[in-house]
Amino acid sequence: MSKFLNSRRKFLMTAGATALGAVALKGCSSAPSSPTASPAAGGTSPAAAPVAGGAALETDTIRLGYIPIFESAPLVIAQEKGFFAKHGLTNAQVIKQSAWGAARDNVEIGSAGGGIDGGQWQMPMPHLISEGVITKGNVKIPMYVLMQTSTQGNGIAIANKRADGTALTGKNIGLNLSGAKDFILSLKAAGNPFTAAYTFPAANQELWIRYWLAAGGIDPDNDIKLIAVPPAQTVANMKVGTMDGFSTGDPWPFRILADEIGFMAALTAEIWPDHPEEYLAIRADWVDKHPNATKAVLKAVMEAQQWCDDPANRPEMAKLLSGRQFFNVSAEILTPPLEGKYNMGDGKPAINDRAKGPLFWKDAKGSVSYPYKSHDTWFLTENVRWGMLPDTTDIKAIVDKVNREDIWREAAKELGIPEADIPKETTRGVETFFDGKTFDANDPNAYLKSLAIKKV
Ligand code: CA
Repeated sequence: MSKFLNSRRKFLMTAGATALGAVALKGCSSAPSSPTASPAAGGTSPAAAPVAGGAALETDTIRLGYIPIFESAPLVIAQEKGFFAKHGLTNAQVIKQSAWGAARDNVEIGSAGGGIDGGQWQMPMPHLISEGVITKGNVKIPMYVLMQTSTQGNGIAIANKRADGTALTGKNIGLNLSGAKDFILSLKAAGNPFTAAYTFPAANQELWIRYWLAAGGIDPDNDIKLIAVPPAQTVANMKVGTMDGFSTGDPWPFRILADEIGFMAALTAEIWPDHPEEYLAIRADWVDKHPNATKAVLKAVMEAQQWCDDPANRPEMAKLLSGRQFFNVSAEILTPPLEGKYNMGDGKPAINDRAKGPLFWKDAKGSVSYPYKSHDTWFLTENVRWGMLPDTTDIKAIVDKVNREDIWREAAKELGIPEADIPKETTRGVETFFDGKTFDANDPNAYLKSLAIKKV
């Protein structure tokens, strides 16, 4: 335990300031990012070589932003294990972003302005940037979603107790909230509602919390307080009890339990097994100008994803990601979630199942890497559900414009990915959530109609 406590301060000051995203204040400025690592440091890269099936690249350079959580691992590994260089991108740079809002600001200015060409995103940030919903002055900056970086590896954390000393433990706050509903509603009745937090609005973190609460019969807009919290303050707020719960990605659940700050109500792998999580998306102008280099990026990251999913590579992966220029936390903290080991706390049995941890290339439903249009459709439908987008939004038109699964297919074929590992359809089929609700991307309205709690 002491090594965790010793590294705690550093963790809070560095990864803590970035790992959980940012409050998206429109117009909030951020310093231009700078590269934090040299390509293929450590001499672990295979020699650069021409790429089979790939035409000459238009550039050897791309600047990709990332947030230091497992969702970015394939980008960091593509650099550190030399996959970018192998595919001709000898000047690819992965650049740590201080927060989601900073990533958004940096992609707005692009690499020409000292920013980034693209990188890792929560969903549906690329669509919201493309439509000018979350950009300065509502300027539309078209982006393409090109691949999913990972699935699962996120959860809902709850504080052990509130500021007034009320324990949140022992109240049945778990995946199914039916046993905790009366308690949570009683907090509102007493004038001090349950407070849940996210760090970037209208994307994964907020959407997981809202889905989980609403499935338990709790209206996130009326029965509790839902707030945006600057990422650097999330764990501090949880510790002093001014924030009762928040949605968080690995390795945070492990830390929250290890430091006895709180417990896990649920893993996202329990809410929606093999759910879509975060994605690689790049500015459309960059992709249109560099079609071969784009495919080289995808091929490099696909190879990195396969490398990440090999259990034999996970110890090296934890070691590489732990580096000061990357996640800046000890490999011991990164290892348990990579092995699917989660202490849930509050009397819940621990989880020890690699299939419930972060996965990068394949999961029980097939390809993790391929960007299903049906998943983009769910994220946008959920934005409509909660009034973040108008109900007149033409979801299909936005998805067809932003999602470039066709480029993924071309890159996969050039890389020699077996036919069996290339999805035949752009929809993964009917999705089923833990509460029995189903989502069919061919009929989002049927899903919206089936939900009891919604704004639309
Ligand atoms: Ca996440």
